[in-house]
Amino acid sequence: MKDDKRQIIEKVTIIGGTHGNEYIGPYFIGKAEQVGVYQDNALEVATLLANPQAFVQARRFIDQDLNRSFSPRILSGTQDSYEYQRAREIARHFSQNDTAQHFLVDLHSTTANMGITLIASNNEPLNLHTGAYVQKKTS
Ligand SMILES: [Zn+2]
Repeated sequence: MKDDKRQIIEKVTIIGGTHGNEYIGPYFIGKAEQVGVYQDNALEVATLLANPQAFVQARRFIDQDLNRSFSPRILSGTQDSYEYQRAREIARHFSQNDTAQHFLVDLHSTTANMGITLIASNNEPLNLHTGAYVQKKTS
């Protein structure tokens, strides 16, 4: 008998501005908050502006690429680059604030002509179903 490992997601966090020069995430977050899309959902939906200093300065990053700052070495270290500190803050936020099953969506943009691209952290069924749903809705 196959083990049913269906995940129950309790919270969705939309992350934008991981790279400060990519505006779609912060724009989406602002617009969604403006129209109240996060209210009255079955799931708790939150947002996170990942790299606020880089976003304010319209730069990809201040010291390091935030997307490459979540390694165990960096997260357990004490290096004081802005993105390393920010990575530790974000990791702490998700590990301390709650134990709910989180689904994270990290919005990026690119100048390459690649259309809507989804990158899943693994091939868990939920990720694949979510990708299929988004692909169906955007094609
Ligand atoms: Zn990016």
